Amino acid sequence: MRVTYTVIRSRRRTAAIQIADGKVVVRVPAKMTGEETDRFVQSHADWIVRHLEKERRRMQEEQKTTVKPLSEQELQALADRAMCVIPDRVRHFAPKVGVTVRRITIRNQTTRWGSCSAAGNLNFNCLLMLTPPEVIDSVVVHELCHLLQMNHSPAFYAEVHRVYPDYDRWNVWLKAHGREIMRRNPARSR
Ligand SMILES: [Zn+2]
Repeated sequence: MRVTYTVIRSRRRTAAIQIADGKVVVRVPAKMTGEETDRFVQSHADWIVRHLEKERRRMQEEQKTTVKPLSEQELQALADRAMCVIPDRVRHFAPKVGVTVRRITIRNQTTRWGSCSAAGNLNFNCLLMLTPPEVIDSVVVHELCHLLQMNHSPAFYAEVHRVYPDYDRWNVWLKAHGREIMRRNPARSR
């Protein structure tokens, strides 16, 4: 069985294999050729496959155990907090984007973090309160920029990055953790 992997070359003396998040990373000395690297990796294929399988099981276990649905009271508390925090962030960023917002609604959505209408109404998911403040800002800026452009074109993202240069970093965070947070929505298990 062949193993797929990412190679990182550096000024190190020996080669080493790392497994993290289901991916195989091989760190090798700068001079090691692709062929040598491949031989090294494939000679450890059994070990790699065993570890990948172990990690996959661990990740599965984690998914089963760590997701605890929120109670209705907890959900309400998040919505109340969101109603204080999010409009404030919208007011902070709206002038930077150069748009005016009509109404902000906090919702308990099961699949979306935010949405907007052409009329200038914005909706935000109350579960955003379970994410870092930087993530909230990134979602706020994303929706505000939709008031300029109702699409995900390069021009849209150019505007997002102009207003919030760190956008990608926090969007990656949300992609990595968002599903698990969404799964805490009691509406999902009803
Ligand atoms: Zn969008």
